Amino acid sequence: MKKCAELVLRRYGDHRSPMALVRSYGCQQNVNDGEKIMGMLSEMGFGFTDDVNAADVILYNTCAVRENAEKKVFGFVGELSHCKARNENLLVGLCGCMAQQEHISAKIKKSYPQVDFVFGTHALYRFPEIFCKALTEHQRIFDIENSDGIIAEGIPVRRLGKIQASLPIMYGCNNFCTYCVVPLVRGRERSRSSKDVLQEAREIVAAGYREIMLLGQNVNSYGKDLDNDLSFPELLRAVNDIPGDFRIRFMTSHPKDCTKELIDAVAECNKICNHIHLPVQSGSDRILKLMNRHYTTEEYFSLIDYAREKIPDVMFSSDIIVGFPGETHEDFLETINLVQKVRYASLFTFIYSKRVGTKAASMEDPVSASEKSKWFQELLDVQRKITDELYRDCVGRTYRVLVERTGDHDDYLLAGRTENNIIIDFEGDPSLVGEFAMVEIVSANNRSVRGKLVNE
Ligand code: SAH
Ligand code: SF4
Repeated sequence: MKKCAELVLRRYGDHRSPMALVRSYGCQQNVNDGEKIMGMLSEMGFGFTDDVNAADVILYNTCAVRENAEKKVFGFVGELSHCKARNENLLVGLCGCMAQQEHISAKIKKSYPQVDFVFGTHALYRFPEIFCKALTEHQRIFDIENSDGIIAEGIPVRRLGKIQASLPIMYGCNNFCTYCVVPLVRGRERSRSSKDVLQEAREIVAAGYREIMLLGQNVNSYGKDLDNDLSFPELLRAVNDIPGDFRIRFMTSHPKDCTKELIDAVAECNKICNHIHLPVQSGSDRILKLMNRHYTTEEYFSLIDYAREKIPDVMFSSDIIVGFPGETHEDFLETINLVQKVRYASLFTFIYSKRVGTKAASMEDPVSASEKSKWFQELLDVQRKITDELYRDCVGRTYRVLVERTGDHDDYLLAGRTENNIIIDFEGDPSLVGEFAMVEIVSANNRSVRGKLVNE
């Protein structure tokens, strides 16, 4: 890192701090990788900007889960040729899941000469070395070697938020859901030792964060690859034991590995939020089998029932894919049926996107894109109605919320997140941001919830 800092100084001079723009796409895991890249750049002497014209280094930390995410990045990278023409010192890099794929790296090599260096998810910890080369060598760098199995500890993190911090507990995925590219670009599951996780959790609490998000593609498999270490429910309990006023969330929980033991931990630990993200993907057992998900809708319902019985006020969210290859209208109606039965508070819905190298990519996919869009819209409408009904049922109730800012510019309009993940807009002093407050819900319309501060 020191050598890099010297090279940075040599290239950009010492009259100002060189500026980097790091843009991360996709899941929270990827955003956390971006925070690590920013941590490393910060140690090399970089400041940060959002303006492509003010940046000396531009790095796109990409997502490969759906085609749209990839298209967007190609669009952005395409536009950078103007910036390169204006600033000969500008370095452009591409990293993350998209970059890990060989066909993407080849496309960049051939058609996007404005990109100076490319590295995949496996090379994240080698970023200083790759960047040093980019600074000194007059050739483009492509490093997508698969060094699966390595967990690099001690990488500095520059967290984007001041209230919530994400904490990866494991990397990779072993599940090979037939539609999903993640196992191909992030490698096999590897868990961090509980000692390292707990150490980082204590640091996060000591730094004043109010919420810790434990991250993994399948957090329920945590520890299965370690000898004599904690299981995920045990890890949750250990994080819960750290003194301090903070909340714990986790994602993602795979239904096939979600146990009663995990639900009991959520029920019994006061800091763990009563919100569970439990992606179901489809309501048809036939499609779940084709997706290689390893659970049935009946097993899924029994988890939901058990959680509802044990955890007061629990709310659920989920991911659903519409238009998986071979999905019929009957299968889709079973998804609608499941959504109506579970009554999720929110849903992340996706139209199936064909991914290179996955099993589903070679399956027959006869349903037209316009038909899939119709189904997708129908699912959104059903979910909107459920969300509105659930939120309306909460009017008149008072919740302890963690105060965040709303997206708009009114300083006094704040947003508070309840434990079960409802966002309530309310008026209050900006000094409340980052604190807990009691808020009563006064109205709920069109998935927007308004509340008022209540004195404790
Ligand atoms: N590990 C997590 C999330 C992985 S990606 C899990 O198993 O739930 C996040 C979501 O993207 C998935 O849950 C799935 O709903 C969606 N997704 C993944 N691959 C997709 C594809 N090829 N097309 C459409 N949606 C996809
Ligand atoms: Fe993808 Fe399935 Fe792994 Fe989630 S569990 S990352 S959907 S393969």
